[in-house]
Amino acid sequence: MKEERLDKFLANQGIGTRSEVKKYIRQGEVFVNGAAVKTPEHKIDPQADEVSCRGARVIKNGPAYYLFYKPAGCVTATEDDYSRTVMDYLDVPKKEDLFPVGRLDKDTEGLLLITDDGALAHKLLSPKKHVDKTYFALVSGEVTGEDIEAFASGLDIQDEKETMPAKLKVLGIQRREECVYSEVEVTIQEGRYHQVKRMFEAVGKKVTYLKRLSMGTLTLTLELEKGCYRPLTDEEIKELR
Ligand code: URA
Repeated sequence: MKEERLDKFLANQGIGTRSEVKKYIRQGEVFVNGAAVKTPEHKIDPQADEVSCRGARVIKNGPAYYLFYKPAGCVTATEDDYSRTVMDYLDVPKKEDLFPVGRLDKDTEGLLLITDDGALAHKLLSPKKHVDKTYFALVSGEVTGEDIEAFASGLDIQDEKETMPAKLKVLGIQRREECVYSEVEVTIQEGRYHQVKRMFEAVGKKVTYLKRLSMGTLTLTLELEKGCYRPLTDEEIKELR
């Protein structure tokens, strides 16, 4: 049996920096075999002991899943010669194995899953699997019932095929001086290049702000700040699969 300090084990599994995991341990948020352990130097056997941190089981060398709140201004790529990438925000072990699931434009904000689980990524992205991706958008002009119907029946966005049916919900219409804009929620099951922006262009409107709120069962929760990430909980991983 190869024993390891609890704080070192948690930091190596990407739960946080050494000082962050020490804080979680001291706050009673870490359990070993069902009992809270409050001493960072406590020794565990990573192969035999069951460790959980902040409600999520920590499995040695298991797949890694992080929910990242992407800010505008960085590109969704693992490397880029000119711009900051989403990966530059992560300080986790085995970062070289991780990749973002799907792509958000540089100016789009919101939920991005970062993982090394290729099978799950495929499932979430394949249009055949019908996984909903929901966005909040600000759109120039007044979104109408006709637009809602056009989104529902499929749009010609100058691709080979029309878009699959999408749900468009108007949350509010804002009028300021000469300007009118709509706050909407859009749900699509594909992930074509600039898809939401191009769908609005097809009905003569322009997206001025876009934020992804959810992907399948995974949602952007309020406590996560822009530019920050956290590991998925066990429950979230189970639901996604
Ligand atoms: N649709 C877009 O137009 N941009 C995104 O970033 C995501 C979906």
